[in-house]
Formats: sequence, C-alpha cells, structure tokens
Amino acid sequence: MKIGLFGGTFDPVHRCHVAVATQVRDRLHLDRVLLIPSGDPPHKPPDTLAPAFHRLAMVRLAVAGEASLEVSELEIQRPAKSYSIETVRPLKGQYGPGVELFFLIGLDAFLELPTWKDAPSLLRLCHFVVVSRQPCRFAGLRALSVLPPLDPAALAHIDSQGQGRLDIPLPGGTSLILLALPPCEASATDIRHRLRERLPLSNLLPASVESYIMQHRLYQEASDRTRVEG
Ligand code: ATP
Repeated sequence: MKIGLFGGTFDPVHRCHVAVATQVRDRLHLDRVLLIPSGDPPHKPPDTLAPAFHRLAMVRLAVAGEASLEVSELEIQRPAKSYSIETVRPLKGQYGPGVELFFLIGLDAFLELPTWKDAPSLLRLCHFVVVSRQPCRFAGLRALSVLPPLDPAALAHIDSQGQGRLDIPLPGGTSLILLALPPCEASATDIRHRLRERLPLSNLLPASVESYIMQHRLYQEASDRTRVEG
C-alpha cells in the first residue's frame, strides 16, 4: 500500500493543488493521497489565514469526485502549530510497516527544507516527491546540505525536460523523487489578490470552491486588505 501525504495552507485550495495530487497519484501508482490542511496558526493575527474550517470545507469540495483523494483533519484538530515531523511520525506508526508514505511537495516549499524541524529524521521516515513549480529550478537543491550530493547534470536535465523523473536514494532507505509536471500557474497568493481586487479568476479554482468563496465572501472584505502576503 502506498499513501501520499500532501500538506498545505490551502488558502484557498486551487486547481494546481488538485492537479499535483492526481498526477502524482497516477505517475507513482499511489493507492490514495491525503490532503492535509494546516491548522490555525496559534500566535498569528486572526486574519493571517482564512479560518481552518473554511479552508477544510474548500479542500473537501475540491476533492469531491476525485478518485482516491481524501482529506485529513489531523493538523486542523491540533491546538498548536504542526511541524511536518509531528504529522508524519504518528501516521507512520498508525499505518505500520506495510504502508509506504510519500510526502508530496512543490519545489518552492521543499527548497525551505533546511528550516524545517528535524528535517534529517523526516527524510528517513518517508519518501519525498518534489514536483516542479515555476520559476524554481531543481538545480537549486544542490545548496541543501541536508541532502546527499546531487549530480548537477541530472538536475539540469530534469530542469530542461517537460515531464522527467529523477529518483535519488536517501540514507535510511527512502527516496527523493523529483518529478517535472506540466507547468501549472495558479498560486493562492495570486488568487487572494484577484478576489480582493475583483479581477477575473480565470478558472484558477475548481467551480465548487469558487462558489463557496463567493457564498462566504472570503478574501474580499476590507479586513483582508491588511493581510500580510507572501
Ligand atoms: P501561496 O501562493 O500562498 O504560497 P500556494 O499556492 O503555494 O500558496 P500552499 O497551500 O502553500 O499553496 O501549497 C501547498 C503545496 O502545494 C506546497 O507544497 C506548494 O509548493 C504546492 N503547490 C502549490 N501550487 C503549486 C503549483 N502551481 N505547482 C506545483 N506545486 C504547487
């Protein structure tokens, strides 16, 4: 059994999140992918993120009807900020040795790995599937000292290819799998900006998520204008 774990703020979930989950599911033959929205940050101003219950509801709408995509409330139900290690470790224990876990992540987010809590342990607990995200380059991974030395030619090759894949064994028996997916341009920051400025959404959101946002007037109120972006 192979299970993908795909965490994010999903503020809001958009088409590229769904595209990443379904394409990785298909290319790696995963039995299912859990989308795991992050909880409310405990020590941040309340308007930093949309409330968790709204983000969760939108992720549920986005995956409805998508085979083998499921939603996990694990991080939302925790009172404190969740570090990835604190999410993966209990799941690993819960599923046991018969299940292989694959941590799905965009290249932009994975490049921040050195700042994560206990990154070396996390790399030993599960496989990592790092998907391309413009304008980041896989070549940038060479700067990450938590990773073994990476072949510059192989990274340049996957950077220049449409849909390549590169598997890199990690100490501890897990793998780092680099996947070049067809470019998908949506970002949650851009979508929030469009909503505030009443700009066209251009199919960046699943229709059900767009309706939910309009119904609940998310990201459009004056208080959202004070949100810190980035
Ligand atoms: P923001 O614009 O606020 O940074 P986001 O669009 O990156 O938000 P997140 O919820 O932060 O959304 O992303 C969750 C995960 O999805 C991250 O690993 C991120 O790298 C990945 N991801 C998001 N959008 C894309 C995309 N267009 N292509 C590839 N990966 C993506």
